[in-house]
Amino acid sequence: MVVVIIMCAVLASCGIVSNNVRFHSPKNFASKSRFPSRSVPWRPPAALPLNFRITTKLDMPEKDSIEDSWPKNKLPRVAPPVAPRTVPAANAPCAVCGQPLPGFDPNNYAVGSGGIKQPKVHVWLWSTSEYSNLSLTTVEKGIEYNTSYHVYYKNDDGPLSPWHDIPLFANEGNKIFNMVVEIPRWTNAKMEISTKDALNPIKQDIKKGRLRYTANVYPHHGYIWNYGALPQTWEDPNHIDEATGCKGDNDPIDVCEIGFRVAKRGEVIQVKILGVVALIDEGETDWKLIAIDVNDPMAPQLSDISDVEKYMPGYLKATVEWFKIYKIPDGKPENQFAFNGDAKERDFAHKVIMETHEAWQNLVLGISDAGGLNISSVVVPNAKFKISVSDAEKIVDNAPESGPPQPIDPKVDLWHYVTLK
Ligand SMILES: [Mg+2]
Repeated sequence: MVVVIIMCAVLASCGIVSNNVRFHSPKNFASKSRFPSRSVPWRPPAALPLNFRITTKLDMPEKDSIEDSWPKNKLPRVAPPVAPRTVPAANAPCAVCGQPLPGFDPNNYAVGSGGIKQPKVHVWLWSTSEYSNLSLTTVEKGIEYNTSYHVYYKNDDGPLSPWHDIPLFANEGNKIFNMVVEIPRWTNAKMEISTKDALNPIKQDIKKGRLRYTANVYPHHGYIWNYGALPQTWEDPNHIDEATGCKGDNDPIDVCEIGFRVAKRGEVIQVKILGVVALIDEGETDWKLIAIDVNDPMAPQLSDISDVEKYMPGYLKATVEWFKIYKIPDGKPENQFAFNGDAKERDFAHKVIMETHEAWQNLVLGISDAGGLNISSVVVPNAKFKISVSDAEKIVDNAPESGPPQPIDPKVDLWHYVTLK
């Protein structure tokens, strides 16, 4: 019997305020006022609005062509019935808004308004927000910590599915992804995008008829990162992953966001990916991406998985231990990991994302069997099932009425002490 002493890596994350970490103004980062010089005491920025969009270029390695670094899919791509596979020729309309796109030349290189050559892209236009406006707000319906609770999304045109209709990319050229925050750091309520309900609202998971709360396994309080998912991804349960030998878990891919700010439930934040851990949860592949909010003051220093241990010592180790033991208080065995629990690097993580993005494409087009999943979309062209804006509004209007939150059972605060064999 070996008692596993769990390092409190939550404290490690506080390394962002330690004296030996400097805050540099990232090059090319337009919002420099939020990164003052070292002579000015650094203060956290105010909470970002939900509809914050990336308009700046990040301090990341420059590539002439995304082809050099963007992973090739190891699986043969299944051709969608109609949708384009590369950026279209000049003046083709945007698949989302229908407006003509700024001049793309015939060899599929985009030339922006300033004559700046942009990288070749190989995803569908509705999976990038380069040319679409992401002005999201959330609508809370029902009673919090009750089965009636639903968080819906809408933009200026009406309700949207956070799974199918929020673009995967916030900025494809810089590999910045949108992340839907389901569970803010240090909370326990297991909120998640409901994959089986129309419009895929965020709801609290139910196990054996009871609302699910993740146990506090000493010394962790709830989740030790902002936890959520990347939209427009799917871990296909009918596909055996080459790397793990296990099938997917039938959900969008999960993300652990390690920045300092405690995000709000439902918030859509922009993250860069640093690496990925291959959790095997009850025999299913359950990738856990490690990412950081691009607006976090540590973001310029963190470019790959090795930087996490360098600047946030202990956080990765605590992350792996957290996933290993978090279901033990529920009577489940400890979870296993592929790659001996080692986190894989950024480029590997990008490859995994693109595979799950392709799996989602096949799902939403009706090429893959959806099982009991709700794959209806409001804006994805050629989706097998579409929801009209008026029907989407009816779904939100008919959701349960809001009310004061239901009190959380004090038992949720229990400490659980875990001994591993
Ligand atoms: Mg998962």
